[in-house]
Amino acid sequence: MTKFFLQSDIVEIVNGLGKSVKEFSGKTIILTGGRGFLGRYFIEVFNYLSKNLLEKPIRLIVLDNLIASGREGLNIPVYENISFINHNVIEPFKFEGEVDFIIHAAGIASPFYYKKFPIETLEVSILGTKNMLTLAEQNKSRFCFFSSSEIYGDPDPKKIPIKESYRGNVSCQGPRACYDESKRVGETLSDIYFNYKGLHTNTIRPFNIYGPGMQETDYRVLPNFASQIKRNLPLNIYGSGNQTRTFCYVTDAIIGFLLVILKGKGGEAYNIGNSGPEISIIDLAKILKEVSLKNVQYKITEYPSTYPEDEPNRRLPDISKALKDLSFKPQISLREGLKRFLNWSELYYSSDK
Ligand code: UDP
Repeated sequence: MTKFFLQSDIVEIVNGLGKSVKEFSGKTIILTGGRGFLGRYFIEVFNYLSKNLLEKPIRLIVLDNLIASGREGLNIPVYENISFINHNVIEPFKFEGEVDFIIHAAGIASPFYYKKFPIETLEVSILGTKNMLTLAEQNKSRFCFFSSSEIYGDPDPKKIPIKESYRGNVSCQGPRACYDESKRVGETLSDIYFNYKGLHTNTIRPFNIYGPGMQETDYRVLPNFASQIKRNLPLNIYGSGNQTRTFCYVTDAIIGFLLVILKGKGGEAYNIGNSGPEISIIDLAKILKEVSLKNVQYKITEYPSTYPEDEPNRRLPDISKALKDLSFKPQISLREGLKRFLNWSELYYSSDK
């Protein structure tokens, strides 16, 4: 059976991290949202490190309430030293023993799902973050909050590429507000715990991460397009199709995340993504046609009622801070990443949905 990840990608992540991973030896880590797209990668990487590289294994406690994790999320692996607890982080979490790192990746990140679950989206970023910061304070754990590039909203074109210092342009009432605003509050909470409580906190702002493991029922652009390519259907482009994104392959992203978790400067937020190419969704469809070697057609459509409009027109990160502080340098070109993703989705996705 096709796995949700490529084993060579896990090795690529570990090799990309170099010696710094030794700091995880014998450590206890709590990972929230551990059955989501990114969380599942952390589990595989930590398991690989414990089995192959570290002197002492990592003890990993994975929390998730499985609300948006898809079929793969329910397929919980049984690994030594890794335990899963079905827990909604909006409830306080008690843990006996020391915790070295808390990776707070729980959240509802796909626009389809945050439109469907706006209250849950808001609560996980606000109450969930508060609960996990309380736990971090009790244990003096290093704390890492997964925020989003959505906190910048629809950026002023003069501010692109977007630096971490840009304050954003976000509506508090728009269809994306439940996600954008709650991630902003999560960042504020992390910042308060850094400034007032002396906790080592970091914030990560991922920019359109993609790769094997994205569920067909995720409904973000690349799983939708890959699913349509597999079924020989035209790609549905929402809006004008001129809106842009900058996509980052998952191995580069996970390396960036782990570098922040290990080496991020206290209190800092980091953009993690690719510094180019910034492409329109129409151009993405054209590149997919080339990469898939199939006769891919696309059509421009209205936004479906399930998808939040009022989206950012452009999204391109400035990643120079992560380069300077963490030596983060993405390696995988867009075409190479898309090739890996499409090869995987051809095997993993269903032929009829
Ligand atoms: N999009 C699209 N067709 C789809 C899904 C998304 O044209 O089937 C567009 C969407 O309007 C946005 C971009 O692709 O401009 C990226 O959307 P996604 O949902 O992946 O995430 P976002 O970057 O908006 O958070």
